[in-house]
Amino acid sequence: MKLYNTLTHKEEEFIPIEEGKVKMYTCGPTVYHYAHIGNMRNYIGHDILVRTLKYLGYEVTRAMNITDVGHLTSDSDSGEDKMMKAAQKEGKTAMEIAKFYTEAFFKDYDKLNLLRPDILKPATGEIDMYIKMITKLLETGYAYISGGNVYFDISKVKDYYALTNHVADEMVVGVREGVEEDSAKRNQADFALWFTSSKFEHHELLWDSPWGKGYPGWHIECSGISIKYLGEQMDIHGGGVDNIFPHHTNEIAQSECYLGHKWVNYWFHNEHLLDESGKMSKSNGAILTVSLLEEKGYDPLAFRFMAMSSHYRKQLLFTYDALDQAQSTYKKLRTKVLNIADEGKIDDEKLSIYNQKFIDSISDDLNTANALATLYEVIKDNKLNGHTKLELIKKFDGVFALDLTKPFAKKEIDEKYVEQMIEKRSEAKKNKDYALADQIRDELAKQGIILKDTPGKTIYEVK
Ligand code: AMP
Ligand code: ZN
Repeated sequence: MKLYNTLTHKEEEFIPIEEGKVKMYTCGPTVYHYAHIGNMRNYIGHDILVRTLKYLGYEVTRAMNITDVGHLTSDSDSGEDKMMKAAQKEGKTAMEIAKFYTEAFFKDYDKLNLLRPDILKPATGEIDMYIKMITKLLETGYAYISGGNVYFDISKVKDYYALTNHVADEMVVGVREGVEEDSAKRNQADFALWFTSSKFEHHELLWDSPWGKGYPGWHIECSGISIKYLGEQMDIHGGGVDNIFPHHTNEIAQSECYLGHKWVNYWFHNEHLLDESGKMSKSNGAILTVSLLEEKGYDPLAFRFMAMSSHYRKQLLFTYDALDQAQSTYKKLRTKVLNIADEGKIDDEKLSIYNQKFIDSISDDLNTANALATLYEVIKDNKLNGHTKLELIKKFDGVFALDLTKPFAKKEIDEKYVEQMIEKRSEAKKNKDYALADQIRDELAKQGIILKDTPGKTIYEVK
């Protein structure tokens, strides 16, 4: 499989550390608010990657964190803890906030048919691991205590800006918009591993440490959790492109200095989902969730379909027009699949040709749009029998996860579509094309839509 690697800034052949196995880490959500469809686009990208690796025969072990402490509003070391800010706003404890939004996250996550990670850990549950790592970083001189906090000294790292391809060199934290200068830091781009002093106001999440009561910085949680549960080296680590700097840059620095060797081979980053006002973000307020789309009558899988129609490394502009289009195309696709009669013997040769074509697309840096084109080709192939078609579609759906062979539920029936079909059938009858009229009636029947001719009007019932 070819995969774009942010670390080397190019597409590479994927070679796992251990043959046939993949260890992978996905940065989890910060649970101070609902996860929006931009966050979900990122998790769809990760899901496609996991499903593709499994399709190719790899045994995948994936870990993910839940950020429930330490992520400050600046994404760096200034501002407030996002969890505490939400707790104060909603008049709840930070742990109540975390529980509520974690549940909401997985509710939407499941609606998108996203595979759950094998290992899922809240950041607050692994404090001992962060303390162990920070202790060693202090002993080896990579970290220092200043102003009561523990900081990582980025000048000790040979190629700190490698992941950003040095684009971030000039973006040092001290001069980034909205990030305050911190006089306790030796270099302004140093980052906090442990807070013990400045951020104590109303902070309910505090733990004892060798440096006094405090709480961990945001970046150390992903390093700590992944090293503890996946081991000292892993194949793939990913997130959204906004995680490249400072989050993943800092993860690499502290992990490799702690371990004394290379840590992650492939860095996988998903581009953003934008709306008309720019990058969708929780802190901006105006966000759309999967549940909200569902309330408006959209199928969550139509959103998944929309995300897969473009490449994960391209920005995706969300508009309702685009979603309407995706939903209509998705429903038509399912209708087409439901209308395939399961007959004939498996055509081994064609099955293997189409399967290879699908693999070629999906393993070309997850080219989902081309993989979908192969699916359409299968559906349209007049010389291919229904049984082979369905076999291929079921296989491909192991990656697409679009419930392609599932009959429509009652609430999913697209009324406009049924009305159009009834209209088409009436036309056919008027033209005495009874074969077409019957064909339309049978097609609808397969989808559980039963037509009844009453005087002057055709009505329908859903089975
Ligand atoms: P957060 O909950 O803010 O920590 O974000 C969870 C994940 O969603 C991170 O990996 C982000 O990189 C990613 N993310 C945030 N906003 C967007 C967006 N608009 N489009 C795609 N991914 C995003
Ligand atoms: Zn992370």
